[in-house]
Amino acid sequence: MSTGTELTNHQFRLAARPSGLPKPTDWEYRAQPVAGPADGEFLVEISHLSLDPAMRGWMNAGKSYIPPVEIGEVMRAGAIGRVIESRNPRFAVGDHVSGTFGVQEYAVSDGREVRKVDPDVAPLATYLGALGMPGMTAYFGLLDIGRPKAGQTVVVSGAAGAVGSVTGQIAKIHGCRVVGIAGGAEKCRLLTDELGFDAAIDYKAEDVKAALREHAPDGVDVYFDNVGGDILDTVLTRLARGARIVICGAISQYNNTEPVRGPANYMSLLVHRASMTGMVVFDYADRFRAASAEMAGWLADGRLKVREHVVEAGLEAFPDTLLSLFSGDNVGKLVLKIRD
Ligand code: NAP
Repeated sequence: MSTGTELTNHQFRLAARPSGLPKPTDWEYRAQPVAGPADGEFLVEISHLSLDPAMRGWMNAGKSYIPPVEIGEVMRAGAIGRVIESRNPRFAVGDHVSGTFGVQEYAVSDGREVRKVDPDVAPLATYLGALGMPGMTAYFGLLDIGRPKAGQTVVVSGAAGAVGSVTGQIAKIHGCRVVGIAGGAEKCRLLTDELGFDAAIDYKAEDVKAALREHAPDGVDVYFDNVGGDILDTVLTRLARGARIVICGAISQYNNTEPVRGPANYMSLLVHRASMTGMVVFDYADRFRAASAEMAGWLADGRLKVREHVVEAGLEAFPDTLLSLFSGDNVGKLVLKIRD
């Protein structure tokens, strides 16, 4: 039996399936009383919400790697919070936890797929970034699918974002030459001056093909693709023999009202005996603990630098903050902090 509480929960539910960029009318903002936990459950007060490009895909109907969010459901989101009431022996009041708690202020959980996080090891927002899902995506996408070797050239798009910034640094740790592609001079400066990338290409201001010729003169051995579209097509023209392309995401296509555009230059895979492989981070869940421990070590010894773009605002800021992923306003992992 669950018990009532005096608390009110504000939430964002999906009201309509968007066409193009999500509009305010695609959301329902609702207030409702918080139910206390039943036996085996605990109540989480959410402090940090993870805003991810994948959320746009979850708003669409149809088959994907996980079911869509249904109309009327609380929007799915990764989050961090604190346990404030518990009837589960594994989770105590005061524990900080990470899980898919949704775009809301409070969530009840039975503990499945929830992990405890330690604010003394890293800031809480980092558990949504480098030590969370984006970091795991970078780690397994690059190392398991990209399989870079020391001395090879790795190109990463979306390079100043949550996944891309970590991917490039892991490639550097593995002795590669790393070229990042990002939007704007400031992001490019961050990549080369602070995160140790060998070169950066501003796709908004430069001719990407010419810049790749300059920065990857022997061709691209690993391309970690976060954006798809024209940039993928351009990198396809600059592959080295045996190149591996990691299809991590295609953010340039997520708000298309036309069907996704496939790469015209795919015959380059044949010419260069190359491969292009999709990856979904959840497939590596049984290895997250070990990867996250290795990443925490790199963080501690300064080889991995992390960026979180923390927007401190109420839950009401969710729809607008989500859109900043698509305008490229974020540098590093976008997090909405809704309370201390
Ligand atoms: P992010 O890179 O932190 O944020 C999104 C960035 O995408 C923006 O800052 C913007 O940077 C760039 N962008 C937006 N519109 C673009 C466009 N039209 N063309 C080129 N770049 C554009 O997001 P993230 O969380 O790290 O995710 C990066 C990618 O990884 C996404 O495609 C996401 O879906 C994917 N992902 C996949 C998995 C998986 O399991 N396969 C898991 C996590 C994430 P600029 O200013 O540089 O344009």
